[in-house]
Amino acid sequence: MTEKKCTPCPTCQGKKIIEGVCEVSSEWRGTKDEQSDDTQCTPDQTCPTCKGKGYEE
Ligand SMILES: [Zn+2]
Repeated sequence: MTEKKCTPCPTCQGKKIIEGVCEVSSEWRGTKDEQSDDTQCTPDQTCPTCKGKGYEE
């Protein structure tokens, strides 16, 4: 009976993916009518550390 415990990936914490983040540009002009181009978002991507497995071997 061998019990193997997998260590959750510290990078994605077992989520297998890196969630995309949205950042608003620091150069905020204060115009509420034009706020579309000032936000940059990165898409979800597979965790490069565990390669989508969610744990370290
Ligand atoms: Zn990971």
